[in-house]
Amino acid sequence: MRYDGCKRNRGVRPLSDCLFCKIVEGTIPSRKVYEDDSVIAFHDIQPQAPVHLLVIPKKHIATMNDCEEQDQMLLGHLLLSAQKIAKEAGLAEGGYRLINNCGRDSGQVVFHIHWHILGGEKLGPLNA
Ligand code: C5P
Repeated sequence: MRYDGCKRNRGVRPLSDCLFCKIVEGTIPSRKVYEDDSVIAFHDIQPQAPVHLLVIPKKHIATMNDCEEQDQMLLGHLLLSAQKIAKEAGLAEGGYRLINNCGRDSGQVVFHIHWHILGGEKLGPLNA
């Protein structure tokens, strides 16, 4: 699975308009912890837990609602990558939370699909 670029992704949003596409391209810096052909992970700039990482596909997909059948492999790969990244961050034993916000009511602010990995302490209730 290779990165096929934002511009070719069904025109969901142009490359120039997306913060996480810029992180993928390296034009905005990030503290990267993982990268392969189709996925990257980096530290969230406003951590909500002792460990707060973001896992994103290199391909631009705006939200979970925009995923299609053809994204099945990518999404599976992304979740297994998240498991590996969490393990490498030392979270396997204590556990962690994996969160995807989808759309306005969820509080999604960056419209390039991503999963938060949160851990490193006992986390509070989900909707506190
Ligand atoms: O799921 P949601 O869209 O709300 O989360 C976006 C996340 O991206 C926030 O936790 C924010 O701190 C993070 N962010 C980042 N680096 C940026 C801009 C936003 O880690 N340059």
